[in-house]
Amino acid sequence: MYCEDGKVFVEKEDQCMSCKNFKKGVACPLLQALGLGMVTLEGIMYVTNCGFYAENRRHLKLIDQKHEKNN
Ligand code: SF4
Repeated sequence: MYCEDGKVFVEKEDQCMSCKNFKKGVACPLLQALGLGMVTLEGIMYVTNCGFYAENRRHLKLIDQKHEKNN
């Protein structure tokens, strides 16, 4: 994660990529604080053990193609 021109950039190494709060944006207290300028970030920081982390789970169902073709 790093900041540039007032924007926050999250990288694939950051835990945020699979975090529910990152998907919602404003639900992340750290991103919110960085975005509002309440916290500054010098250089690059990798988020690996965030106390606010909430796993973003996908809820996909596999469709039985044989069953679909017969209908
Ligand atoms: S809550 Fe933590 S892990 Fe989730 S997006 Fe924010 S900083 Fe990243």
